[in-house]
Order: sequence, then C-alpha cells, then structure tokens
Amino acid sequence: MMIPFFGKLVILSKWLFTNQPTTAAIDVTHRCNLHCSHCYWWKQGHPRELNDQEMIRHMRSLRASGLRAAILYGGEPTLRPDVCRAAGEIFDATLAFTNGTNGFPELPNGQWILSLDGPESVNDALRGKGVYEQAVQHVQHAASPPLVHMTISRLNRNCVEDFIKEMLALPIKGTGFSFFTPNVGEDDSPALTLEERDSIVEELLRLRARYGDKVGFTRAMARQLKSNGAFREWNEYARCPVSRRVRCYQSDGTRKACTYGNDADCSRCGCAAVVAFRGAFNPVDLETIRLIFGLVFPGFLPHRKSKRISFHLHPNGTAEATRL
Ligand code: SF4
Ligand code: SF4
Repeated sequence: MMIPFFGKLVILSKWLFTNQPTTAAIDVTHRCNLHCSHCYWWKQGHPRELNDQEMIRHMRSLRASGLRAAILYGGEPTLRPDVCRAAGEIFDATLAFTNGTNGFPELPNGQWILSLDGPESVNDALRGKGVYEQAVQHVQHAASPPLVHMTISRLNRNCVEDFIKEMLALPIKGTGFSFFTPNVGEDDSPALTLEERDSIVEELLRLRARYGDKVGFTRAMARQLKSNGAFREWNEYARCPVSRRVRCYQSDGTRKACTYGNDADCSRCGCAAVVAFRGAFNPVDLETIRLIFGLVFPGFLPHRKSKRISFHLHPNGTAEATRL
C-alpha cells in the first residue's frame, strides 16, 4: 500500500515541479460494444490490438520508463477486464473510462470514470436504447463509487442540470465535464462555439454553487476554458500540457498525438484533463488540486462537505436530487 501512495505523491510532485511526462494514456482495445452516434472512434480506422500478454508487457515497459500513472481508454476497456486489472497492479494510479454497460471490473488502486451524455432519453438517443438503465444499475452495485463524466455538446447542452440532479441521487463519487472537441476535417456539428461554451461554463459554476462540490468544475477550470480567460494560452498542440506530460498510445502500442487522436482540433479543445491540470497550477488553486487528489487517490473525497440535498425516486425509476 505504501508504494502506490508514494508513487502518487511522486506523480503529483512531477506535475507541480517538473515538465516531465508522468502518464500513459492507453487505448487498451479498439473494440466497443456500442455504436454511439456522436463517437469519432468507430468512424476512424484503428491499428490491430495487442493481445493480453503483449499489452501487459507494453504497460510494464511504460511503467519502467517512468510513467507512473495510466489512463485507460478504448473502444471500451471493460471488454478486457484482465488487462484493466493488470494496469491497476502495474501503475501507481490508474483511471479508466467506461460506458458502464459491463459493470466496473476490478481495478486495483484505480478509479472508474463512467461516461454518460445526459438523462436517460438524451443519453440513449446518442448511445442506444437501454444503455442508461444498464449503467445506472451497475453504479448501484459498484464495489467503489465511480466518477461520472459528461461530454457537453450541441446535442445535450440543455440538460446539464437535470443530469446532475439525477447523478447526485446515485452512489457516485462526483461528476466531471468536458466539451466536445472536434477533429480537423471531420463532422464538427456537435461542437459548441466558444461563446456558447462560455455560457455553459458559467452554468456549471452556478450548478456547483447550488449542488455542491460533487459538481467537479471549479472557478479556476472555468478560467482556462473561457474565451476571455486563459483559453488562448494553451489551445495549440505545442502549449498543451497533455502533449508534454501524457504519452498517448494506440491499441497496437504505437504513439498518437492526443487521446482524441492525431487530428484533434486543439483550437477548440474542451478536454477536462487539460483545464483541471492548468486550473490547479496556473496559479495554484487548492480547490482544483483537491479535485485532482480525488482522481489520483480513489479513497479521497474531493467534496468538502455535502450540501443538504433531498433525493426523490420517480415512478419511472429515475432519481432526482434537489438542494434544500
Ligand atoms: S462507448 Fe465510447 S468508444 Fe464506444 S461508441 Fe460510445 S463513445 Fe464511442
Ligand atoms: S486536443 Fe486538447 S488535449 Fe489534445 S493535444 Fe490538443 S489541446 Fe491538448
């Protein structure tokens, strides 16, 4: 137990005091059991997938090269539960994204992040009928509470508060938000304009004030996204902290430029990881650091105190939280 704890402190110290890469973002599979209408993944070609032994060897060599943290992506990582478990054992801190349909397999020392796009009707219109219900059922039975991540776009921007209320009624650790980042040369219709995004950024701050710290979006993060804030200080590849500190790998073990792919439009990036990292340290912001601690240390609760919130279960099975 002491070694991962020490390792996590090393990761945070490197983030704070050096420019060195700390993290491997790994597509552990190129397969997915869903076919979400807004997903760039299945519209792109992907290289072959390393088999389990090769993938585990690949992860060990990344750890040996000094990358102590990992973020697991796909496709859908839960299609390879043995690889997920191995990642949790190899790295000092592991985050893994999932669509929630296969539950939350063992991830030693790690944190699952559930991607949903909104309340049931909105989510399922994008991800497929029954996906929301399946994911919520798995949340109810998760061994440790997942974080829930929403990618905000033109397709779901009007339901952010409803979604937060539903999520806060579930046993989750908290919520996080990115904005849809288009790829250069591909369909960018889901992407919000920067001005539209500014108004949702303000809305997220209002929702955090209303529902509490489980709404994982701080003022410092908002400043990194706002068009009149710090956005233009980092929204190109050479200045993005992810491009310096996170090494991204495809499912065959070869490098790619960004977790979003080689063609992501940095000028319109809405990645939560970048705004959290920059928000935490430019300048130092304890509220955002606390939020990052919650990611890196699964047992650490990022919220200071729970606001008084009442939970209501609707006859149709959906739940809702209201601040008292
Ligand atoms: S679950 Fe994720 S990877 Fe799979 S199709 Fe949907 S958005 Fe794409
Ligand atoms: S898309 Fe965003 S996260 Fe990816 S390299 Fe560009 S700025 Fe960084």
